[in-house]
Amino acid sequence: MTEPGVGSDVINMASTARREGDVYILNGEKMWISLATKAHNFLVVAKTDPSAGHRGLTAFIVTSDMKGVKTGDIHGKLGVRAGSTGWVAMENVEVPVANRLGEDGEGFKIAMAALDNGRYTVGAGAVGLIRACLEDSITYAKERRTFGKPIADHQLIKQKIGYMQQWYDAASLLIYKAGWMKNMGMRNTRETGMAKWYATDMSVQAALEAVQIHGAYGFSDEYPVERYLRNSKGAVIYEGTSEIHQLMQADYALNYRQDGNLRCELPAYDPEYWQSEPVEA
Ligand SMILES: Cc1cc2nc3c(=O)[nH]c(=O)nc-3n(C[C@H](O)[C@H](O)[C@H](O)COP(=O)(O)OP(=O)(O)OC[C@H]3O[C@@H](n4cnc5c(N)ncnc54)[C@H](O)[C@@H]3O)c2cc1C
Repeated sequence: MTEPGVGSDVINMASTARREGDVYILNGEKMWISLATKAHNFLVVAKTDPSAGHRGLTAFIVTSDMKGVKTGDIHGKLGVRAGSTGWVAMENVEVPVANRLGEDGEGFKIAMAALDNGRYTVGAGAVGLIRACLEDSITYAKERRTFGKPIADHQLIKQKIGYMQQWYDAASLLIYKAGWMKNMGMRNTRETGMAKWYATDMSVQAALEAVQIHGAYGFSDEYPVERYLRNSKGAVIYEGTSEIHQLMQADYALNYRQDGNLRCELPAYDPEYWQSEPVEA
């Protein structure tokens, strides 16, 4: 039976944190961090006990103004060009013990719980991308005429539209299910992973079909579908690649994987909290 995480206890992470009195000394770097040059607070997981596998990881809040923290942008991305993606490097950064999240050795559990949230937002974004592909394709297919009729009236184009609608409906339902479980305060790692995996995989398919329906114009930046295709490819890589999600879901189905306890109970949705006045910063 595996703990949260895929398969083995091999942790390739190289970042380290060494306790010295009231501080930890952090060293390491990580490429491919969303908002690296924009964020003020980073959730960093580092090895405090390199011999203890995933139980030797500890989580910290590192702020961008701490001495020894450097960040930079990554250029030349295929997609997500309106979004900031970069790298973070830490050289002998002194992080107060007060900035440790949880206890020593709880970093893996904290990171996995954070993924349950990140994966949800990526999955929901992919549902939106499928919808955009569908709506733009319907509009174009009704306008563009070939062989004396709108291409929407050709059966092979209808087939693409039908599939897109199917992917959109199924992906929406998976995301709503995971969201409902979150609202109820239920453990949702499996359901959120399934929603993220399906929605992002299908958003790539929907974007490919949208480009195809737009013909040559789909191959240009005159219509947004080429951007949909470039952006869709990112989401099958970040927040767990499709391959990793596929392995996870197979392990759940085979009963090779069961979720252990989270570090703390998940809060259910509290409408009163969200309706209260925002707190002044
Ligand atoms: C735009 C963007 C933003 C990102 N933002 C963040 C961020 O904010 N924070 C963050 O921590 N990371 C972020 N990432 C990094 C992202 O999470 C990783 O790129 C992703 O987890 C894949 O890791 P990798 O690139 O090292 O690929 P690798 O792990 O090297 O994988 C390469 C290929 O091998 C496959 N593979 C690997 N292991 C297995 C296996 N066991 N079985 C089968 N196939 C396998 C993968 O699925 C993939 O196809 C971001 C990436 C991008 C592109």
